[in-house]
Amino acid sequence: MAPDTATLRPAKTPDVHQAEPIPAAARAEIDRLLATGDLFRYTAPEGAPVAQLEAEFADFLGSRYALAVASCSAALFLALKALDLPRGARVLIPAFTFAAVPSAVVHADCVPVLVEVGETLRIDLDDFHAKLETADAVLISHMRGHTSDMDAIMAACDARGIPVIEDAAHSLGTLWSGRKIGTLGKIGCFSFQSYKMVNAGEGGMFVTDDPELAARAVIMSGAYEYNWKKHPGLQNSFHHWQNKLPLYNMRMQNLSAAVIRPQIPEIPARVAAGQRGHDRVAARLAQHPWFEVPPALPQEERAPDSLQFLLRGFDSDEDARAFLDAAARRGVAVQIFGLSPDNARAFWNWQFLGDLPDLPVTRAMLMRACDLRLPTRLSEADLDHIAEGLIAAAAEVQRG
Ligand SMILES: *Cc1c(COP(=O)(O)O)cnc(C)c1O
Repeated sequence: MAPDTATLRPAKTPDVHQAEPIPAAARAEIDRLLATGDLFRYTAPEGAPVAQLEAEFADFLGSRYALAVASCSAALFLALKALDLPRGARVLIPAFTFAAVPSAVVHADCVPVLVEVGETLRIDLDDFHAKLETADAVLISHMRGHTSDMDAIMAACDARGIPVIEDAAHSLGTLWSGRKIGTLGKIGCFSFQSYKMVNAGEGGMFVTDDPELAARAVIMSGAYEYNWKKHPGLQNSFHHWQNKLPLYNMRMQNLSAAVIRPQIPEIPARVAAGQRGHDRVAARLAQHPWFEVPPALPQEERAPDSLQFLLRGFDSDEDARAFLDAAARRGVAVQIFGLSPDNARAFWNWQFLGDLPDLPVTRAMLMRACDLRLPTRLSEADLDHIAEGLIAAAAEVQRG
């Protein structure tokens, strides 16, 4: 059947690939840095923008230590190295995550063990408990901000003395029983890549309350010679590790910190806007049988900048693809993780891992799970346009 042309309004198509704008307050500091050439974080004797960002971020999260690095992937790698895991250590990760996560595990000479993720978009706890028996560490990606059951995960890991790293790249501002996500495990990792809540183009953060882990990560991130003196913390620990650890040089530079710092106070407003936008579209979709939006867990207060939902009643891949095409014709850019070619979040594309396990639960979910960016800047009219476009697209395909 021909699409209903009344719903085709490409002129109003919201740009869902836009990133967060940089506050004007960043300009003066960037000009100062450009004028002085003071870009390296360890040149100034104290108070470098990167050091100030670390203090502010630690304060925002309520963590004792924060280390700014080049990316969240770098933070994940340093987290695994800081834990001093033996070569070949088995690290549990969700099978639904971004390819950079298994990559960080491989980079740290560990072996990723993929755990099933079902239609809740959270780790499957039965598979998790079974695989935990032979695990040395756990790296939980709260993928797209969907928090796995951290009460169950922390209880099981604490009982066995297994360290937990949280990949909170998409969870800045998310709360779990009132606590900030990224502070529940031993180490939390965040991203400032442009499609995350805080946009610096690139950048990452490593947080922990453990002074030894902090000291090891600071040195390995590239605090060579006595540069670690510019980090707060136990100076004895730094001295102990000096020259005993490799320098991977994954530092952040001052310009990135100048871009990030004025965005930190904006996080609460962005979280609130993200929640409003997500819930507005989700509520509309919930009125139709074709969409299922995974609900938040009772402990979880989300900070979404995107929306995921599962298609219901689209039994063939052809029907699912027809839905995507019909949405695209209405100006709504939606993807299905498993149907877009070479998607970096579909585990079967992680060929660098060698033999890939069969994970039927995750595979089935990825073949019907839709991914839609919802930048916090979208207006209510933009959000309604998106919701109406999705509903009309599903109706078109279902009418056949
Ligand atoms: C973006 C992302 C990463 C990687 O972050 P970078 O800063 O780009 O390295 C890791 N994990 C998840 C879940 C992400 O969304």
